[in-house]
Amino acid sequence: MSNQTRVAASLGVLALMFVMQGTRAADARSELPDATKAGVADKLYRLDCGHSLANDESVWTPGENLGRDIEFSSTCWLIKHGREWLLWDTGVPQATINDPRGWSTLPKLIVYHLDKSVTNQLAEIGLNPGDIGRVAISHTHGDHIGNMTLFPNATILMQRAEYSWIHSSDGPNANVNQLMALARKLLGTPKNLRLLDGDTDVFGDGSVTLLSTPGHTPGHQSLLVHLKNAGFIILSGDVVHLEENFEKNIVPSLNTDKAQSLASMARVRQLLGTYQATLFINHDKSETDKLKLIPAFYD
Ligand SMILES: [Zn+2]
Repeated sequence: MSNQTRVAASLGVLALMFVMQGTRAADARSELPDATKAGVADKLYRLDCGHSLANDESVWTPGENLGRDIEFSSTCWLIKHGREWLLWDTGVPQATINDPRGWSTLPKLIVYHLDKSVTNQLAEIGLNPGDIGRVAISHTHGDHIGNMTLFPNATILMQRAEYSWIHSSDGPNANVNQLMALARKLLGTPKNLRLLDGDTDVFGDGSVTLLSTPGHTPGHQSLLVHLKNAGFIILSGDVVHLEENFEKNIVPSLNTDKAQSLASMARVRQLLGTYQATLFINHDKSETDKLKLIPAFYD
């Protein structure tokens, strides 16, 4: 084969890969529900999954709020769909409750506290962790996957890109490496792991859809939930941290990809319009504190 042929052949392979990726993306997007025909989940409960104090808000709002303290909420969500239960994120590790020093993913920056365990909050509506058939995780930062060991038999739903990322070689800096190592430890080796490639209709009726929103981490996802009375709700994961990020289009400095982060925020804005949806921002404490808390629910 001449060099030119070789180049042409590899270009051909590249083009084919591009087409295949395009097809996969198109397939993934086709799992988005039709707003007029989507099924509904029965109930959506908020769980208090911790709160944290960080000593420099500018990490999340580069260029603004330098050295200012900021308190974040950590939120998990429980969805009832017929007889099935789906938990969205598992929060700060339950052992934190007994530790007055709190718990941290990056000790120099942020400390988490937990007032209520996931187990006790599930018990408020008569559930045991074993009743939860599916656990979907927005991404693998420790404050979102701190209690995976409570759900050894559940099917874990996460993006393949996220799983590959935390098992890849070293990241760009020490902070990211530390977060990746912690993620591997907290995720462990799930017995029933379902790795996803893009948007995924969880129950096959358009009621609950995982949305690919990478950028905060490589396989970050958000969740679109359809309820009879409340309509469509998007659970942010960490596609944005604060209302301010969203309004001013500001990308936190710890995000793994700035361009992807901006694209994902734009995507969420577009979906909010398409579905006339409400956005619940996981870490925005002033907003979260106003939302219903288990045993109250949205339906
Ligand atoms: Zn995060």
